[in-house]
Amino acid sequence: MNRLPNHADTIVIGAGITGLCLARSLATQGVSVALLEAAGAPGGLLAPKLLNGVSVDSYYHHIFVSDLRTRRLLDGLDLTRALAWRTTSVSLLDEAGFHPLTSPLDILRFKELSLGEKVRLALLVRHARSIEPAGLDDVLARKWAVSLAGPVVWERFLRPLVEAKFGAAAPRVSAAWLAGRIGCRSNRGLRGERLGYLTPSFHALVSRLAGDLEPVLWCSEPVEGIVIEGGRVTAVSAGTQTVTCRDVVFTGGANALAKILAGMDDLLPDLASLAFQGILCGVFAVDSPSRGAYWTNVTVPGAPFNIVVQQDLLEPVKGGRGIVYASRYVDPETARAAHRERELDAMQEGLRAYFGIDPSAISDRELAVTDDAGIVYATGTRAVIDSLRPSVSGFHVAGMLTSFPDRSIEQSVAGAEDLARALAGA
Ligand SMILES: Cc1cc2nc3c(=O)[nH]c(=O)nc-3n(C[C@H](O)[C@H](O)[C@H](O)COP(=O)(O)OP(=O)(O)OC[C@H]3O[C@@H](n4cnc5c(N)ncnc54)[C@H](O)[C@@H]3O)c2cc1C
Repeated sequence: MNRLPNHADTIVIGAGITGLCLARSLATQGVSVALLEAAGAPGGLLAPKLLNGVSVDSYYHHIFVSDLRTRRLLDGLDLTRALAWRTTSVSLLDEAGFHPLTSPLDILRFKELSLGEKVRLALLVRHARSIEPAGLDDVLARKWAVSLAGPVVWERFLRPLVEAKFGAAAPRVSAAWLAGRIGCRSNRGLRGERLGYLTPSFHALVSRLAGDLEPVLWCSEPVEGIVIEGGRVTAVSAGTQTVTCRDVVFTGGANALAKILAGMDDLLPDLASLAFQGILCGVFAVDSPSRGAYWTNVTVPGAPFNIVVQQDLLEPVKGGRGIVYASRYVDPETARAAHRERELDAMQEGLRAYFGIDPSAISDRELAVTDDAGIVYATGTRAVIDSLRPSVSGFHVAGMLTSFPDRSIEQSVAGAEDLARALAGA
């Protein structure tokens, strides 16, 4: 790999989907760009893992029919034919067992709610789809749901959803996240929700973008600091090198940004008040069929995971065995301290106990871990995100740190393309 350049008009920090899209859009608009990635390969949360020699997504991913910017990007890259649209299944696993929740009929059969409560749930869903969720940033998810649908709907139907995503931080989560999530996930036909999966994996998108950017992409180059002179950013430091620039865009998570800005706390004073979460995600190659749905929220007390995703029930990985993801959102410290084998053993035992997956049917396994899996969308998050406008000119933040009321590939693509247009036009 080449030595870093001495100068680039724009330096993009991080080659996840945000950084890749941003660098590509800037390059096509004639801006000289350098894309610096800390890891040994591009992709960020869309980076792959090798199981039995086959490349699979490290974390479960799909896109929604409404993700129009992502679909347009895939189209422009001639990847639309690689997108498989499938009707998927969803379930909840609690102490009473599995509850299928795929179709409106399943929800009608859901024994934990009375008919009246199901009607109130339907009204809440309709309301969530009709409003702008960001306006609910100051309202607790629980308060909003109880006021619209009552405590039982919250306890038995919505709380498990929030807890699967935010674990111990769930009580602080805002109605903005919950209403946004309900809005995008309730677009179901009679047979369930249609989701898109990029074959052979979402890394196909990363590889394609990274291939186009090869001359300006540098991996294993963690940016360690930024240089500020006269109220504007003038360079970044990576290893022993300094690269001068006009603009810098950071696209990673809060923990990584805090490291770069160490000692410059006044630059983004509210950064520390943003709660981020990590994730432990076991990826298992499984030879036998198992119970449950494509997506299962697990609320059994003591279970080693909150979400289990069975990739085969969306689209099998070509050339691979059945892939099962078993994950648990945790605080960043727990993610950093995780013991790989111990976590995988506990998840494997959980898959045996709850999903009937015999350990002998598991032919390979990996643990994907990050301390920057996403923001905890607690009340007041929008105000903090809005304040993340650095006081020095030329320094910008994009990606997960600016996505609200949730983060997604779609938000990354749209945010990156919009920022590229603004920077190129500046
Ligand atoms: C378990 C899980 C499941 C998900 N499922 C879905 C889904 O189904 N659909 C969907 O739309 N979204 C999903 N998402 C969200 C989606 O993955 C993210 O929103 C998106 O990938 C974020 O991309 P990004 O480029 O903004 O950030 P990242 O992918 O985190 O990329 C940031 C990059 O910056 C690099 N970096 C950080 N610090 C430095 C530094 N100092 N120097 C150089 N490089 C640095 C990192 O190494 C990383 O490669 C999921 C996320 C998780 C965790």
